Amino acid sequence: MADKLTTSLMKTVLASSGMQAQLIAALMEMLASIWGGFEDWYEPDGVQRAAKLAAEAEAAALTQVRRTASSTARELLRQTGENITVDPLEALEHPRGVDPLELWERPAEAYRYAISQGKNDTEALAAAMNRAGHIAKADVAITARDAQIREFRRSEKVKGYRRVIHPELSKSGVCGLCIVAADRLYSLKELMPLHDGCNCTVAPVTARSDPGLKLNQQDIEELYSAAGGSTRREDLARLRVTSYEHGELGPTLVRVGQSYLSPEEAAARKRPPKRHLRAVNSDTDLRKKKNRNAAETQRLLDTSQKKLDAYQKAIDEAKAAGKSPDDISIRGYVYGLQRERKNVLSYTKELKAA
Ligand SMILES: [Zn+2]
Repeated sequence: MADKLTTSLMKTVLASSGMQAQLIAALMEMLASIWGGFEDWYEPDGVQRAAKLAAEAEAAALTQVRRTASSTARELLRQTGENITVDPLEALEHPRGVDPLELWERPAEAYRYAISQGKNDTEALAAAMNRAGHIAKADVAITARDAQIREFRRSEKVKGYRRVIHPELSKSGVCGLCIVAADRLYSLKELMPLHDGCNCTVAPVTARSDPGLKLNQQDIEELYSAAGGSTRREDLARLRVTSYEHGELGPTLVRVGQSYLSPEEAAARKRPPKRHLRAVNSDTDLRKKKNRNAAETQRLLDTSQKKLDAYQKAIDEAKAAGKSPDDISIRGYVYGLQRERKNVLSYTKELKAA
């Protein structure tokens, strides 16, 4: 059974991951409104404007994440009997060490790539939204981890730290990689490797307390009994994990034998040059045109109506498939729906006035 100290540390860890989940949800909503409401995928200026909005939304969220993580780490240390004097926060640096404005053009790149591969607008929007979601989640996870470890490093009592798994945050269950890595003790010199969709947080290990270990043991026992037997345990016993240094994301957790890029390969693989943005059948010019004729406006109206119907269908299908309404691609469709409703109204009005 957990002792009193571990229980209070557990509460702090859970409260903090809850706050972080809220910050992520708020950021996802912002990103959905920016990219879901977006339609100038082939217009460099428009893409840059949207990227700037997304970068600003992310920067604001990461500042909050960093604050929450720092104060959580300090609170965990305070409870273990170690007080840290508060330092002013360091200037915001992007966790990937890349230009955030270029980073945040990637959702548009994902949209255009999907179209170039023969996907329709609805599928391409989902690709853009998913790219945005992946970027944001990874950046939040790295930022939170780094902020906490920075605090741990300032305490002489902290010997190292441990990964804390969060089954309550992942619908599909904690990934096996994290369960296998859950008994690993990290030194303060190393950065705990994360992976795509990782919800893990960290807990300090001191001479007299190791809350992460107890927290994980409890969760893992529950996960095993919920899985109804030994299959998962055996699967996990066979799973070996390792990590590699990702060019942008730093240490990344993978299973042994899984193919990945070495740092050299990652460095050698340059980002593809920006493709010419102009699409053959783009309605962009038509939308910007001052004196459209009725046939042109009708074409825009038809396209908007088609997109509107497709988004609604995609929302309905995703819900029927049991996807959460908070899923970023659904949120993107909701904003796309709003955008196309406005478009349909204005094109209809334009046709009537003609
Ligand atoms: Zn994880």
